[in-house]
Order: sequence, then structure tokens, then C-alpha cells
Amino acid sequence: MDCLFCKIAAGAIPSTQVYHDDTVIAIEDINPQAPTHLLVMPRAHHANIGDLSDASEAALLARLIEVATKLGREHGNNGYRLVMNTGADGGQTVDHLHIHVLAGRHLTWPPG
Ligand code: 5GP
Ligand code: ZN
Repeated sequence: MDCLFCKIAAGAIPSTQVYHDDTVIAIEDINPQAPTHLLVMPRAHHANIGDLSDASEAALLARLIEVATKLGREHGNNGYRLVMNTGADGGQTVDHLHIHVLAGRHLTWPPG
């Protein structure tokens, strides 16, 4: 499959990894929107959270959130933000499930 993050997860395209285990990797975003901007994703391909259904996939989502909150705690001073852009109107540009971890500055709300 021609998927950028599948290639990154397989090591075929270089990235700066900050975490990895058998099922999950976390990398630095190439275009950071905050001092810390990480992407937590499964090694296996799923388009987005709408593409998850069964119990094992719910467990995968829980694992992604667990890793993302751990990284947010480690990199945030006074909080952090987890974001899952989903679909075109949600701002998703790479159709491989991922959680953005943003930290290191005060983040405004609402987004644009
Ligand atoms: P989305 O827009 O799908 O929520 O997030 C995709 C993210 O992937 C964007 O923040 C974008 O900067 C990042 N990105 C796009 N291409 C690459 C790449 O080749 N390497 C890395 N590390 N991040 C990328
Ligand atoms: Zn993929």
C-alpha cells in the first residue's frame, strides 16, 4: 500500500523516532506546530479512528492514547494537547491513524 506512515513505520522513509514497541511508534512531526510536536501511530495500517471496530482495535486505540499521554507528560510543562484529525474536513492529510501530541507552549482554542 502506498502509505507514507506505513513506509515510516517500516523504516523505508527516515524519521526521528522518540518511542517504539512492537505495535506503536512515535516520531517527530516534520512541520512542528509547537516546541514538541509528536505523532503516535500504530505500525499496522488503519485509515483513522473511524476505521477501528473490534475489541482488539479498541485495545490498540487505548494503547496509542497511553503512549501519547506518557509523551505529553514527559514533554509538557503545564499540560499538552492530543489531536486526532479525522477525514478531510477534520484536517487529516495522511490517511494512517495517528495522534498528534503538542506541548511546550500555551495552545489556543478554538483551532482555525
Ligand atoms: P494530519 O494532517 O493527517 O492530521 O497530520 C499529518 C502530519 O504528518 C502533519 O502534521 C505533517 O506535518 C506530518 N508529516 C507529513 N509528512 C511527514 C513526513 O514525511 N515525516 C514526518 N515526520 N511527518 C510528516
Ligand atoms: Zn499506513
